[in-house]
Amino acid sequence: MPSIQLTVVPPAAPFALAVHGGAGPLRDGRDRATAQSDGLRRALAAGEAVLAGSGTALDAVCTAVAVLEDDEAFNAGRGAALTVAGTAELDACVCDGASHRAGAVAASRFARHPVLAARAVMERTPHVLLAGPTPEWLDTVGLERVDPAWFVTPARLTALRDGTPEATAPALPGTGQGTAEPRVGHGTVGAVARDSAGRLAAATSTGGVTGQWVGRVGDTPVVGAGTWADERVAVSGTGIGEYFLRAALAHDVAARVRWTGAALADAVRGAIADDLVVPGGDGGVIAAAADGTLVLAYCSQAMLRAYLGPDGPVVVA
Ligand code: ASP
Repeated sequence: MPSIQLTVVPPAAPFALAVHGGAGPLRDGRDRATAQSDGLRRALAAGEAVLAGSGTALDAVCTAVAVLEDDEAFNAGRGAALTVAGTAELDACVCDGASHRAGAVAASRFARHPVLAARAVMERTPHVLLAGPTPEWLDTVGLERVDPAWFVTPARLTALRDGTPEATAPALPGTGQGTAEPRVGHGTVGAVARDSAGRLAAATSTGGVTGQWVGRVGDTPVVGAGTWADERVAVSGTGIGEYFLRAALAHDVAARVRWTGAALADAVRGAIADDLVVPGGDGGVIAAAADGTLVLAYCSQAMLRAYLGPDGPVVVA
């Protein structure tokens, strides 16, 4: 059975922030690892600047995730994993713990920053989850839109063509061979934060898994599966989305804290063990508690991550 790697970061400042860059196998190439660790550092710094300027946890997680969506080294926004048809269908979610509100987009093709589209769903519509947000709606809410081809990078086309074992779902719709389980690689991004007023927020953004069926939606935009925040905990997950969906994993962490009074680290460990390790899944989460404690844990071989520690930023990529 895979072991669970878990880091607990005690409250170190009036605010707390952690980001992840996806869970998966051990790193595959020094250039990509360097690009990813630079990207995580930039995202953490951008989110920290928001929190240090008395911004909200919600602003901080959206800012950090938007930085990573623009970074081709990650599976979110430009450079995201592609469907079997070679298209980018992006999922994102934001949860604001203080207000118990959430917004998400699924199979988003035009929003340059799916995380900002998710926030607009939360703040500017009566809904929680919008599938396939249209260019016209993006114009209405004043968000930048791009041609769908903008998200497609040469590296991702190569990964799709070669079946690179990074984020590969060997699914062939219509051939009867599409039942193999997805395997994930690094790159999905997420952030959790607690601001100096004690508010919690979480955001996650992804292209899903390479070669996924057109129309497949993972855990990321499903509130309580890949993303969650309430007044006690904020959670952002990464891994094989189908396992997170079946177990409502992010909400499982919150429920353990809420109903059993478990410490966040115990809740995270228990949820990963029961929801991922036992059924044979793969992945991890980052989580924040109301007192500013951060927990970063995974059962995959690795999880790219960064957080504000007591002695400054820590990046593990
Ligand atoms: N959870 C994402 C999905 O299944 C993939 C990942 O985290 O790498 O869509």
